[in-house]
Amino acid sequence: MDRLIEGHRRFLKEVFPKKQNQYKLLADRQAPEWLFITCSDSRVLPELILGTGPGDLFITRNAGNVVPLTTHDVDGVTATIEYAIEVLRVKSAILCGHSDCGALKAALDKPRL
Ligand SMILES: [Zn+2]
Repeated sequence: MDRLIEGHRRFLKEVFPKKQNQYKLLADRQAPEWLFITCSDSRVLPELILGTGPGDLFITRNAGNVVPLTTHDVDGVTATIEYAIEVLRVKSAILCGHSDCGALKAALDKPRL
């Protein structure tokens, strides 16, 4: 936990002051261009691999980046997609998988699932 607290202190001291105007604009509204759907895997860092920053991506994550086939059962992913399209009017949706996904390995290994 100390590492996270120190990271947040560093953010407040070094990063926030440099981007203060951008954060002020984002405090009242957001207008991301992209909906990004990806795995919860800790090795997937959307902002890092795409070079994006605050306000750029509207993100939903779950193990295996699973998107429900129907909207009969409302869940977080469905709600996120609907909000991104209907309210935020994102231009594109990106479904990002990754190598060595434990969730997909488990799904494909039905005897052990
Ligand atoms: Zn994964």
